[in-house]
Amino acid sequence: MRAAVFHGIGDISIDTVPDPVIERSTDAIISVEAAGVCGSDLWTYRGQSAVVPGARIGHEFVGRVVEAGTDVCDFAVDDWVIVPFRYSCGECTYCVRGLTCSCINGGFWSREVKAAGQGEYVRVPFADATLIKPYSGGERPDDSLIPSLVALTDVMVTGLHGARSAQVCPGDTVTVIGDGAVAISAVMAAQWMGAGRVIVLGSTHPVRRDLVANLGVEAVLNVRGDEAVEQVRDLTDGLGSDATVECVGSEQSFLTALSVAAAGTTVGYVGLPHGVAIDPATMFAKNLGIAGGVCPARALIPGLLSEVLAGNLNPGAVFTSRYPLDAVPTAYSDLDQRKCVKPLIDVARKG
Ligand SMILES: [Zn+2]
Ligand SMILES: [Zn+2]
Repeated sequence: MRAAVFHGIGDISIDTVPDPVIERSTDAIISVEAAGVCGSDLWTYRGQSAVVPGARIGHEFVGRVVEAGTDVCDFAVDDWVIVPFRYSCGECTYCVRGLTCSCINGGFWSREVKAAGQGEYVRVPFADATLIKPYSGGERPDDSLIPSLVALTDVMVTGLHGARSAQVCPGDTVTVIGDGAVAISAVMAAQWMGAGRVIVLGSTHPVRRDLVANLGVEAVLNVRGDEAVEQVRDLTDGLGSDATVECVGSEQSFLTALSVAAAGTTVGYVGLPHGVAIDPATMFAKNLGIAGGVCPARALIPGLLSEVLAGNLNPGAVFTSRYPLDAVPTAYSDLDQRKCVKPLIDVARKG
């Protein structure tokens, strides 16, 4: 089969790799129909992650079951499924608590297992606990829904995790920091949770800014640091935001988040922190909380799925470009050069 393989900085190609096989009776093999390229894939592409040359890549994908192990009870061949960005067992203490991202038996694609999403087939461990059917009969969703279902595998639920961690309440003024797909998803999530006003910081790119503006946010502020803090305070009677979602992960964006947050509120963070050193004293005077981390995608997807199927949420809007599998290298260079917000790979489509 063909799959995207990381060979080194700026070098990802579509190679022929071995077909996956059922290794445990709880596995299923998925024929991938569509996959996303993520900001975290870009760190690998840029040589800023621990991923080693030769590794497969991609963790956002949907498709059809083509083979199921003998102990897979809830899925059958031809069922159309959503695959979260981490697989999980469904039985350990963390899975039972809904913190599926900490599953002690689970893992990440291309890390604990070789399999990864940007390719034709994937072996999925713990299929019953990991996979999600959009429809109980296993039917394939309409083409128009597929980008949104790929968005549910990671960015949309990660945006929701940020908004939930920030404790967004109906009527709140929410500040979202970032202009990537997760930040745009966090805006959608905050609105879905009933935010009264949303302010977005850091949208420098015209396409990204338009995408955010089209969501009906109150302000998109193309400023950073002190200027950003001042403008948020001006928009909030000097108080700051009721809930703040940090979607970048840099020290500056963390400090900005803590500065724009009103006293007694919480900063939700979902951008993987890179070199962030925060002194708790920064939070002490204002009684600020910070909460967040890896999103428990498997636990959060079902709650949003019904909203996507009902047409109440369109998280697929973050995919601004589509590519066949053969064009994965172009998709990465386009994302790297910010020519698109987020690429969708039509794995089943011939170039
Ligand atoms: Zn992702
Ligand atoms: Zn588990």
